Amino acid sequence: MEHGSEASRAGEKIVLKNCKLVITKDERERILRNVDILISEGRIETIGEVKEKADMVIDSSNYLVMPSLVDSHMHLPSKRYQDLSSLEHNISFRLKALISHGVTSMVVYSNDVEPILAAASQIGLRIRPAIKISQLRECQAKLTNLPLPPIISIEDSEECIENLPEIKEFVEKGMSVHIHIAESRQEVFAFKKRFHKTPISLLFERGILSKNTCLINPNWIASWELNLVKGCDSVIIWSPSTSMYKAMNGFFPYRELKEMNVQIAIGSCDSNVLLNSNPLKELKLASLLVRYNYWDSSLFLPLDHVTTIGERIMGVKVGRIKVGYLADLVLLDINRLLLKGLDMNKVEEDLIYLMDSGDVIKVISNGRIVFSRIRDA
Ligand SMILES: [Zn+2]
Repeated sequence: MEHGSEASRAGEKIVLKNCKLVITKDERERILRNVDILISEGRIETIGEVKEKADMVIDSSNYLVMPSLVDSHMHLPSKRYQDLSSLEHNISFRLKALISHGVTSMVVYSNDVEPILAAASQIGLRIRPAIKISQLRECQAKLTNLPLPPIISIEDSEECIENLPEIKEFVEKGMSVHIHIAESRQEVFAFKKRFHKTPISLLFERGILSKNTCLINPNWIASWELNLVKGCDSVIIWSPSTSMYKAMNGFFPYRELKEMNVQIAIGSCDSNVLLNSNPLKELKLASLLVRYNYWDSSLFLPLDHVTTIGERIMGVKVGRIKVGYLADLVLLDINRLLLKGLDMNKVEEDLIYLMDSGDVIKVISNGRIVFSRIRDA
């Protein structure tokens, strides 16, 4: 595999000619066959028949085209990386690995915001940095010229309690706040003992649940708390691998949240480093878990949790193949998928279970080809 082998320049026009199948994830959930896509100035300009001249034409008759993936919450890098070799090298390696899985947007929590953003812009990735309150205090000036506004990251309920007034201020200013909360039974019970209420009800009382708030891995959440989350239009982020790895011993109430129409995003959290995960793997694991937990073989998590939700998480027009949206696309080998058993009558459901990084042939980010797989002859 190789990155940027067909070095496309920012701003040039690319036509994806005769795409075999396009999963648009537009509001009508259209799946289109044999259409062209024109990409211009980093955005999707036309979907249909394109006659216009372009700088690059890609025969897409063997490709399934879908929006690229969004990892709504991850941590990078961990200390264990730093003694391997240089920090920059490891960051680059990790980010390139994610692109090869079809990821082009991500929220990254790290102590090393600057090297990560530098690597991301070189590779062509879109990153929204998540930073701790303490980091924000230290380097406020440096954080004013970021490509996307930072997200405040709260590691646990302890840190949340210590900073309640400040977090409320951030929320009121319209900043996004991501809070690891109610992750396990032990955490919730210890919290109740100390404060005589559950962590999520306390967040509600203190005005911290809002449309700018994302709750991360609330595996131990009661049904009445779901109503609070819904009422405040907060987003829930689920990282199944991390929850399982850390033996969080809760039960993520996917079906209940879905029925209440609460917005759910999938993030790899720690598992990106620990378990070499990515949003695709997380989606598959989450789908298998909900089937198993609810005894319902019709359940699966649609691509929305790693595509369309990205618009809200990243704050830019990503996650759909739609005119005017950023050209962030993944081109998959449809023949390989068909060999694996893809049923054209239930493409999205099958994709969740069948797709792996080997199917990813090209990745386009911001209208630029950022990854091309070279197969052995
Ligand atoms: Zn996390």
